[in-house]
Amino acid sequence: MLIRTGEIPLDGLEIHETVDPSLLDLGTESIQYTAPLQIDCTVRKELGVVTVEAAIGTAVEMTCHLCLRVLGEDVARRFQWYYKVQDHPQIDVLEEVRQEIMLGYPMVWLCREDCRGLCPQCGANWNEETCVHGPT
Ligand SMILES: [Zn+2]
Ligand SMILES: [Zn+2]
Repeated sequence: MLIRTGEIPLDGLEIHETVDPSLLDLGTESIQYTAPLQIDCTVRKELGVVTVEAAIGTAVEMTCHLCLRVLGEDVARRFQWYYKVQDHPQIDVLEEVRQEIMLGYPMVWLCREDCRGLCPQCGANWNEETCVHGPT
């Protein structure tokens, strides 16, 4: 998904693509992408500046780092980027999308800020129960 900024027509560009999230290497220990990435971009060029408006849709499954609880979530986000044509002969939309999405999710996700996690000895979920081992 490369845009050559020198080749953007006067009336702009529309880009619609569906991308397999595994190609972007987006998953982390906590976040799995469970739906294709739908990318819709509008590209305009004015006075030497390229504006890219992107709408991104996908779905994720987040696993709590501590208690392993899984939560599914639909993702719909909008971004806007600006580039000077002289500094950016080409724009790698997919790379921009990847970075925005990575920034939007933590490397480690917790189901709640004070998640107590699982007992390392018996596996009891300390959010829901206590066991003889603690928590302290
Ligand atoms: Zn948790
Ligand atoms: Zn225990």
